[in-house]
Amino acid sequence: MFKALVVEKDEAGYRAGVKEVDDSALPAGEVTVDVAFSTINYKDGLAITGKAPVVRKFPLHAGIDFAGTVSASDDARFRPGDAVLLNGFGVGESHSGGLAQKARVKADWLLPLPTGLTPRQAMAIGTAGYTAMLCVMALDKHGVVPGSGDVLVTGANGGVGTVAITLLAKMGHRVVASTGRLNEADFLKGLGAAEVISRDELSAPGKPLGKERWVGVLDSVGSHTLANALAGTRYGGAVAACGLAQGMDLPGSVAPFILRGVTLYGIDSVMAPMALRRAAWQRLADELDLDKLETLTQEVTLLGALQAGPDILAGRIRGRVVVNVNA
Ligand code: NDP
Repeated sequence: MFKALVVEKDEAGYRAGVKEVDDSALPAGEVTVDVAFSTINYKDGLAITGKAPVVRKFPLHAGIDFAGTVSASDDARFRPGDAVLLNGFGVGESHSGGLAQKARVKADWLLPLPTGLTPRQAMAIGTAGYTAMLCVMALDKHGVVPGSGDVLVTGANGGVGTVAITLLAKMGHRVVASTGRLNEADFLKGLGAAEVISRDELSAPGKPLGKERWVGVLDSVGSHTLANALAGTRYGGAVAACGLAQGMDLPGSVAPFILRGVTLYGIDSVMAPMALRRAAWQRLADELDLDKLETLTQEVTLLGALQAGPDILAGRIRGRVVVNVNA
């Protein structure tokens, strides 16, 4: 028997709770993992609350990512005792996931834990931090290099936003952080933001083109914020879009693309190819300031994860929540 945060849906309705479950509750897969840590990402909030239909199979253990130790493996690439991590591939959506003391998954979905990270640090980064790195890599590849101009990070106090600021500032970028929580300006400056602006500057309907303010944007908010971020991007600049905290719509115009040659990169973490994942995780292990990571991380138990679900959707979480599934 082991503990899991189980999401159920039946005639009694949609609900999530921490339960003792049997090993037979684990799905098919080549590798069984003793989970050490998981996290609460925005999507986990949706799964726990049922606010959007991200869970597509019931009952299901929530948790789109985890880090732990292999306990059994039918695949030559993994042996008992190996430290591993997983994020995405529909785990925590259509295949039972990491908010549980055990997980069983396909070997193709697992990565060895990158050298230099503990399982707790890997999950303090989690899907949100790894997605921030995918965005940073897209901007990098575009040529948004330190010294070329300001980089805007929206949703600054969120999981993606806080890791993004930490990464970009360490690389030498001048980071402008956009937030609805100006009372957290000192915290954001502590992570490396040079300037903190109110998200009200970006969240209302705007003009097709605005003043050229930033050379790069890392956006986890979508909707008018993304449209205005595009409208304020300098000639030849780039925007990496990964999220929809404000909304899924993109109410803008083609003006930034056709008049300023701005590029919009779409960032998906769930099905990203293995080579890109490995590169992103290794860069996180090599480049992220782990002391700063700790300052933006709080730890909860599986029971605490139940409350963190609605909290993250309400924008009440600052930074990252790591879940100690064995506490
Ligand atoms: P968080 O909830 O931790 O952060 C989102 C932040 O957005 C909040 O902290 C808040 O920051 C801001 N925000 C919240 N509501 C609004 C609003 N109505 N208008 C404007 N800003 C708002 O979530 P994550 O950082 O974990 O994820 C961010 C987004 O990225 C989510 O939409 C998530 O689904 C998406 N995502 C996508 C991935 C992919 O593969 N593409 C992977 C991971 C995440 P502040 O208080 O500073 O304004």
